[in-house]
Order: sequence, then structure tokens, then C-alpha cells
Amino acid sequence: MIIVLKPHSSPEVVAHVLERIEALGLTPHLSQGVSRTIIGVIGDEQKLQVEPLQAIPGVEQVVPILKPYKLASREFHPENSIFEVKGIKIGGGHLAMIAGPCAIEGEALLYEVAVRVRDAGANILRGGAFKPRTSPYSFQGLGEDGLKILRNVGDQLHMPVVTEVMDPRQIELVSRYTDMFQIGARNMQNFDLLKEIGKTRIPVLIKRGMSATVKDLLMSVEYILSQGNREVILCERGIRTFEDSTRNTLDLSIVPNVKGLSHLPIIVDPSHATGRPDLIPAMAMAAVASGCDGVHIEVHSCPEKALSDGPQALVPDQYARLMDELRRLAEVMGKTIDVCEGEPVSCAPC
Ligand code: PEP
Ligand code: MN
Repeated sequence: MIIVLKPHSSPEVVAHVLERIEALGLTPHLSQGVSRTIIGVIGDEQKLQVEPLQAIPGVEQVVPILKPYKLASREFHPENSIFEVKGIKIGGGHLAMIAGPCAIEGEALLYEVAVRVRDAGANILRGGAFKPRTSPYSFQGLGEDGLKILRNVGDQLHMPVVTEVMDPRQIELVSRYTDMFQIGARNMQNFDLLKEIGKTRIPVLIKRGMSATVKDLLMSVEYILSQGNREVILCERGIRTFEDSTRNTLDLSIVPNVKGLSHLPIIVDPSHATGRPDLIPAMAMAAVASGCDGVHIEVHSCPEKALSDGPQALVPDQYARLMDELRRLAEVMGKTIDVCEGEPVSCAPC
């Protein structure tokens, strides 16, 4: 249920409504827009039905949200959400350009890739320290050593960083190094992980599960939001279908679909969606044209030597050419790509 307050309600009115909701044993979630305040109420709605909430001074409307995801819904937050990660805005017309290797393999290599993608216009650096590999014999990531490298390179280049967390037991460690958590496709429905991530206040990039519907994805997002962490960005990375000429099938309709259903930003990862460098640029352009809030692309300076996902990596020159095109498209669409401020420093070993 959402309670819409009259425009420009005073803090006393808001506090009074919150008090009434809490007295009923329900949890209120406040969404403060420019002129309006909306209160989402989570819990047994039966309890609210007996309360004449409509009669409280300052309350304009009491509306049930029929969708199973409440805090993620557009009804709860009509305007597009905009989040800021170390000065880089995402959503509401600001594009996140996330780039970097699949895995952190070493400091010199990450620095080399990071400098190149930053010069090309990337504004968030990615790299996995904990890798969810199909085979237990494949490279599993450098763990904490990788996180230290990522943090160091990010700091030298004034770039926010994002990295995957796979298990609730890793949250404390990863949160010491990252600016944004990534929840991978394989963990989209790891509900214990989602609940624990929801208790942090670090922005989250959650990737769509390989066989998840749009509703499944939004329900997973709701797990995070309901624990109090409001900064969630969705990511389409392709789903499993019968098509086997691409690694996955990119479902671009999810972008306008989610935009209608939710206020949260959604970005697109054409690297995992196609698995093919020859298709990534076209799909990145199509993603931005579809109205998404950014693209997430794997880049490696020597894909043939990469320890993870080499065959789908773009080389820095390809990424730079793509960014030139994406910038032109963004301009036509009236979108902004924030740039990382500050002079890069050469990387002192961590
Ligand atoms: C990744 O970003 O490297 C990754 C493992 O992604 P996904 O969870 O989408 O497979
Ligand atoms: Mn990868």
C-alpha cells in the first residue's frame, strides 16, 4: 500500500503518519520527491484497511500496490531514481559506462586496461576477485589480493569500482574495497545474499539470472530494497534460450519493460549477453538506443591470455571506437556520460 501525502507536507505531518503506521506494527518506507512525499507500507495490509488513514490530515490518497514488488515499483517512486557512485551519476539521463577485465589478474594488467578505458570515457572500473566459474578447475579469482589491486587502481585513476560478491560471508571483506557490489547472474536468487547486501548501504548492480523473468528480477531487487538499501541498479546480461550461436540471448525489451514497471536504473551487458566481440558494439548501441542507463563491457589488453572470458573481451582500441559512437548516440538522445575527474597517478604497487 502507498500513502500519498498532499504536496509540500510539513515534517510534522510526515512524522505523524509514520508514527501511526509503526503503531500498527508495519514498516514505512519514505520516498521524498521534489514536491511530494510517498510512504510505502510493507506488511499485513489487512491491518491498514481498518484504519481510516485517509482521514489523517495531510494524507491525499491511500492506494494499494497490486504488484508483488512494492519498493521497486514506479507507483512507489514515480520519478526515475538517480544514484551517485563517487561523483558518477547513474540513471535519469546519466549513463554508467562500466568497463574492465572479467577477472583481476594482476596490478600491471588491470592498470593498463583501466587507463585505456578511462581515456576512452569509461566512468566505472570493473573486475572480479571472486569468480563464479562453471568448472571448479578454472581460475577462481585472486580473492582479497585482487580486491586490493582493484581498489588501488581505482584510486590512482579516480574511478569508482564494482566487483562481484558471491557469498554472504564475503560481504564484510568486499565492502572494505568496493564502491559498488555486483550480484552475478548465478546468485540473483541467493536470497540470503540479497538480504545481507540489503543491510549495507553500498550501491548494488544486480544481474538478471539466466532463466529469470522480469518479475523474478524485480522480486530479487525487492529483497535488497526491503532491507533498507535503496541503491539498486539492474543489469540485463542475456538469458538462456535454444539459440546457440551466441553465448546467451540479449533480451533488450527488458529495458523499456522495466522502465514502465520500476523507477530503478537498468544497464545492459552485451559482453555476457552475446559472448562475441563482433556483436558487442552493435548491441551496446542498441542498448543505449533502447533507453538503458549504461553499458557494462569486458575489456582485456590481451584476450588470448585472459584467465576468464577472454573470447568475449574487446581490446582497448575496439572499446575506444565503440565509446566514440556511444558518445555521439548519447548526445543525440540528450544523455550525459559523467567523466572521472582528477589526474591519473601512475600506479604504486599495493
Ligand atoms: C561477470 O560479470 O564477469 C559475470 C560473471 O557475469 P554474469 O554473472 O552475468 O555471468
Ligand atoms: Mn565475465
